[in-house]
Amino acid sequence: MNSFFRSIYNNLLSANQPYSNSQRYRRLVIVNSMLYLVCVILLIFSFLHFFVFANGQQNIALVDFLCALGMLVAILDLRRSGNIDRAAFIGSISLIVLLLAFVQLNQNNSFGLIWVIFLPIFAIWVNGSKLGLQITITFYLILFVMAYQGIGVWQNGEWDSTSLFRLIISSIILTIIIYSNEVSITKAKEKERDARNELEKLSCLDELTQIANRREINNILSKEINRAKRYGHKLSFILFDIDDFKQINDVYGHISGDHVLQKISEIVKSNIRQTDNPGRWGGEEFCLILPEEDLQSGQRLAEKLRKIIEISKFDSIPNSITCSFGIAEWNEKTPSVDDLINNADKALYRAKRLGKNRVVNYKPEQSFIIESNELVL
Ligand code: GH3
Ligand code: MG
Ligand code: MG
Repeated sequence: MNSFFRSIYNNLLSANQPYSNSQRYRRLVIVNSMLYLVCVILLIFSFLHFFVFANGQQNIALVDFLCALGMLVAILDLRRSGNIDRAAFIGSISLIVLLLAFVQLNQNNSFGLIWVIFLPIFAIWVNGSKLGLQITITFYLILFVMAYQGIGVWQNGEWDSTSLFRLIISSIILTIIIYSNEVSITKAKEKERDARNELEKLSCLDELTQIANRREINNILSKEINRAKRYGHKLSFILFDIDDFKQINDVYGHISGDHVLQKISEIVKSNIRQTDNPGRWGGEEFCLILPEEDLQSGQRLAEKLRKIIEISKFDSIPNSITCSFGIAEWNEKTPSVDDLINNADKALYRAKRLGKNRVVNYKPEQSFIIESNELVL
């Protein structure tokens, strides 16, 4: 039963468009449901006017039927093209034509004018506040002219200027309420969307350096490895660590240390391609994901960054600051994210052991076990 309702929902209300948690999808469902609702109501009324109501209102039945067809055109167009704006506009025009023709035929008999309250609701909901308001104003201007001409004529002459005045005032109040409601909902949704985007951004970025944090780097790395696997592309990963950073903190203070971390992030950002992904791996360690780059081009980039950092001036720190780099390349033998990171880490470790301020590539044939003479006890 559940799947039955789900298939109705997918086929009818969402116009067969794939689900997404977006404003566009929500509007699609609103427009589509309104079109269906009005179409069904009009078909019912068309039937009632033709077969059930006593005083033979076939002409009104025909108008209802034609407007239901207009709604159907909008529904089919939406299913075919996915163009929400066009479907909303076709639906609104059909409804305007229906209501004006209905007023022309029925005047205000049996309090028929009450139906016009649906125009601002429909037009503003499906077209949004701005276009919806324009459509509503156009409709009311035509309606008020018709109602003005009906003074002394409609309802066997009972429709007078007071009736017209009531119609105008109630229409204006109703339109203002619906319009302001729609504007406040739209604003609230925009705020919610901005807050969600901000939250998403914050959850991916390192606060101090404003580059990707470790969580985000892990995500990007998994995606890039999958891509490299599928398309047989290259992929390199650089891990680098500031040399003797503890000393910088101890001598110049933590704040100066933070500035060094920020400046190094800036240097990295302004010296890589847009497709390269820099990140703060943690503490004073950074990383770079280089899609479509092999070990050699990764090494060239690392060497370039190493030199730039070495000659850069850092505020209130007279000494030059250096970094050690480890690079690993993704291949079928190191299939996982962890393998790739471990290999880069081993290469970085070796760069430190070999005297820091250098770039070391990970090579599987090379032993990365620390030799006993490298150990500082
Ligand atoms: P090595 O050359 O072997 O990497 O030595 P090191 O001193 O750089 O490494 P160590 O791991 O001994 O010290 C890292 C220091 O980085 C210690 C820690 O206080 C500092 N650090 C980590 N995160 C931050 C941070 O966000 N801001 C500042 N200012 N310092 C940080
Ligand atoms: Mg360090
Ligand atoms: Mg470190």
